[in-house]
Amino acid sequence: MKLLLFPSLVALLFQGSANACTGFAGVHDHFLPINGTFAANNQISLNSDGYGVSHFGSGAYMITDGAYQTFVVVSTEGVVVVDAPPTTGHKIQWAIGNLTSIPVRWFIYSHSHSDHAGGAYIFANQSHPQVTTISHENTASQLATAKDPHRPVPQITFNDRYNLVAGNQTLELSFPGIGHDLGNIIIYAPKQRVLMMVDQIYAGWVPFWNLAASLYVPGWIQAHDQLLAYDFDVYLGGHMGGPANRTAVEVQREYVQDLFDNCADALLESGSPENPTVDIGTISKEVLENNPSNIWAQFAVYLDAVADLCYNKTSEKWLGKLAAQDIFGFSHARTMVSSLRLDYDILGPNGVQ
Ligand SMILES: [Zn+2]
Repeated sequence: MKLLLFPSLVALLFQGSANACTGFAGVHDHFLPINGTFAANNQISLNSDGYGVSHFGSGAYMITDGAYQTFVVVSTEGVVVVDAPPTTGHKIQWAIGNLTSIPVRWFIYSHSHSDHAGGAYIFANQSHPQVTTISHENTASQLATAKDPHRPVPQITFNDRYNLVAGNQTLELSFPGIGHDLGNIIIYAPKQRVLMMVDQIYAGWVPFWNLAASLYVPGWIQAHDQLLAYDFDVYLGGHMGGPANRTAVEVQREYVQDLFDNCADALLESGSPENPTVDIGTISKEVLENNPSNIWAQFAVYLDAVADLCYNKTSEKWLGKLAAQDIFGFSHARTMVSSLRLDYDILGPNGVQ
């Protein structure tokens, strides 16, 4: 669609780099291979029933369908389940049944999104025994608005912290603030030293597009440090195969910091005619010549040129290290540029005159 609306944009963007991934990713496109990136170390094999299980000791498990993760803790009083991605769905019940005869008694929503919680009803509607459902209060508000029978409104909600004591197990739930979602919580199993925060860290990969589709980018960035304040060995991000570790969190924090710095530099550079590929004056003149009075065209080309410079700089270090920088890296640069302008007051040539 962009090609039709803004023909001059394409020429500008492709001056940047042959690696710039700024268009529609077609089915016949070839992307950089996973082998050789950090992601290659994090694969998990699935059994013939289509799921994989990791055991962290003391009754803590991760169940995955290869793309999504569910955290399961078996206690003397019942099983605790965190998230039920619809793609794993009833396989979670089957997998738990193969681990223990103890019934599920608690279900925790990590956050509201249906790709992680769309199978919640499988547990929430269980009658023998009944299951207690828990979430952050913002998640409960979102689910009340959604009226989705697959994601029933939870019975127990909290704002800051909630300790779930289930038989011989404890899970510490806490809310670090709005980031990826309005009520995305940290789940910590202190005995097993397992830490979970969904859609925050993508071990070995760059995040899902637009900085994990986060509602509030500064909160999502800050969560990296909030996670590293915990004492943990295993990290579960809800995605991307096997369990991760502390290093994965540190690596993504470094990537995001680089992206932040490179995008800030690009915004500052965009006020100087010395770099005509991002200079707002040079770009505006050319776009308005082709599209008289079209201010949105002028601004769209300018912002994407800034994002492209940031993307290319970030790729120099990270392409081939974190998987999918070639796929989602440009979307991250674009989202970061927007957040720097609106949330951090780094406006470059559009600052106070
Ligand atoms: Zn999400």
